[in-house]
Amino acid sequence: MLLLMQTIPRGTSLLLHSCCGPCSSRCLEALKDTFAVTVLYYNPNITDLAEYEKRKGEQIRFLRETGWADFLDCDYNPAEFFAAAKGLEGEREGGARCYACYKLRLEYTARTAAEHGFGWFCSTLSVSPHKNAAWLNEIGRSLAGQYGVKWLPNDFKKQNGYLRSVALAEEHHLYRQNYCGCIYSDWTKNPEGKK
Ligand code: SF4
Repeated sequence: MLLLMQTIPRGTSLLLHSCCGPCSSRCLEALKDTFAVTVLYYNPNITDLAEYEKRKGEQIRFLRETGWADFLDCDYNPAEFFAAAKGLEGEREGGARCYACYKLRLEYTARTAAEHGFGWFCSTLSVSPHKNAAWLNEIGRSLAGQYGVKWLPNDFKKQNGYLRSVALAEEHHLYRQNYCGCIYSDWTKNPEGKK
């Protein structure tokens, strides 16, 4: 990714799907000197509204404090996640339900990027050690062809990227959730889902 970024003119527009403030922190730090970044908060997988609002509020606060990106919001519609996860509810975390969840969020991002004239799109998801960067890049490349917007291949967890995101979250006193987002990953609401 770093070598590729050296070939991209400074200020090129990029739409960055973000799952939360802490994950966005390291990704934005890596991207901000090359791209004019807009963060897209599309996360219908966060099935609890209060949790969704809390994470979104922290995302906005982080952007206000750093000025590292603009913010593009969208409607909250968990029904879109439940439709994508239908039949995959019992899958383990990291399995087929997560692939469908990645695809849902990346496809919305690619479509929005095309509609708004962004040159590139990307996601913060790979910064997490729990997320499959190979799957994310496979989906991103496929959507790039479909929507005519370039995908920035990435694995933000590399080069201590995850640890850096933890440090930045601490520096900005960001709320860090202890589960991924959907009800199937929330052990307090779905104890039988605990592995
Ligand atoms: S565990 Fe996370 S990535 Fe997997 S389906 Fe739930 S919210 Fe999506």
